[in-house]
Amino acid sequence: MPSRLLLLVSLGLACALVAGCARFPVGFERAIVVPSPNHNARRPNFVILHDTTSSNAEHALRTLTNPAREVSSHYLIGRDGTLYQLVDEERRAWHAGKSYWGGNTDLNSASIGIELDNTGAEPYSEAQMTVLLDVLKGVKERYRIPTNNFLGHGDVAPGRKVDPSRLFPWERLAKEGYGLWCHQQAVLPIPDSFDSLMALQDIGYDTSNPAAALAAFRRHFLANDSEGDVSDAERRLMQCLVIEKRKPPAS
Ligand SMILES: [Zn+2]
Repeated sequence: MPSRLLLLVSLGLACALVAGCARFPVGFERAIVVPSPNHNARRPNFVILHDTTSSNAEHALRTLTNPAREVSSHYLIGRDGTLYQLVDEERRAWHAGKSYWGGNTDLNSASIGIELDNTGAEPYSEAQMTVLLDVLKGVKERYRIPTNNFLGHGDVAPGRKVDPSRLFPWERLAKEGYGLWCHQQAVLPIPDSFDSLMALQDIGYDTSNPAAALAAFRRHFLANDSEGDVSDAERRLMQCLVIEKRKPPAS
């Protein structure tokens, strides 16, 4: 009998002799349980930011805790900087919905969701930003979330969501180490073969609706909601972001 099979059989027999040999709560009935100590909780790898689009935090809290609404987030930050936690970080909150980023198709399973108490048409208060930066620091350190993986709901659900609004200070966040940004635009000529849709895809966007992906890019990286054809300046910015994204993470 091969030694590995022998080991499994003896472990199985030992298990059968011990009363109440525990099964994992979720798994296959026919599996022989051989617990390994080498594991920990699954960890989030993204942070998704939202606007509540409510006029106050109390209203948003009612929505985010109403079973009938089936929406939630891990955190809500009030305009005055009050921090509310609604879901344990190790649990899957329901904030992103149908979503996509760089091949990931279920951002809820892989992210921390943070709601900002904001109507979507007003600046973000300093008190709120200070607390947000504090929360981002905590989760980034706790889960070693890559710098590029701090995103907006509108980034992962283009055409369906537009939050946070163009007023959100992504540049400030990027300077603090949260989120992809073009820190130094190289003066490189744009190659004739440059394909802006391909670039948006390389950045991470779902490009199945090209206009929506472009709008999401403009909102996040140019703080505008303009429409129209892609300009040369935008192509240069896309190229810069693709280059930034390919850089190995700083250790
Ligand atoms: Zn949202």
